[in-house]
Amino acid sequence: MILDSAQSVVIVPGYGMAVAQAQHAVRDLTNILEKKNISVRFAIHPVAGRMPGHMNVLLAEAQVSYDKLFALEDINDDFPNVDVALIIGANDVVNPAARHDKNSPIYGMPILNVDYAKTVVVNKRSLNVGYAGIQNELFFYPNTLMFFGSAKEAVNKLVNEIKEL
Ligand code: NDP
Repeated sequence: MILDSAQSVVIVPGYGMAVAQAQHAVRDLTNILEKKNISVRFAIHPVAGRMPGHMNVLLAEAQVSYDKLFALEDINDDFPNVDVALIIGANDVVNPAARHDKNSPIYGMPILNVDYAKTVVVNKRSLNVGYAGIQNELFFYPNTLMFFGSAKEAVNKLVNEIKEL
């Protein structure tokens, strides 16, 4: 229902989307939202996944059109205008501690400012850490909702739920 009532959605893919091979399900979700006249863009962090260009390759394979993909510097200022930031299996690249916690090992790393969106929905399997091995305070923010599950099944579930609305 949150997605259905949004006008602007930004999807942030991460390592978990790659592991789960969820890119086709994510493409289906994009198509169904766009059919409802909801704007869908992708925010691509330069080190999302485990190799440079990892997310771009997977999304291209799933035939997500390239003009929907935005680099960090091209989309980061727009998050306050975004209704839903939907995080699919990303963790470190959306950890706000990088902006303010001088003791964090990722302090100073540019992150996607997803926490500035009106609502943040995070899909992953648990509250487990990512590559950097640190907890992510984003998961406990008041505007964040956790949507637990392996990415492919979880996104397919969303697609089916939205179809039924
Ligand atoms: P992260 O490694 O920070 O987090 C990935 C998250 O994916 C995990 O917390 C995990 O949580 C979740 N996950 C795992 N399996 C699934 C699944 N089946 N379904 C849903 N979620 C899943 O990923 P990011 O992409 O945010 O960040 C990349 C990290 O890798 C950065 O720290 C970067 O520096 C590092 N790195 C990147 C390289 C690159 O070139 N891109 C190279 C080397 C390192 P859970 O277990 O709860 O599901």
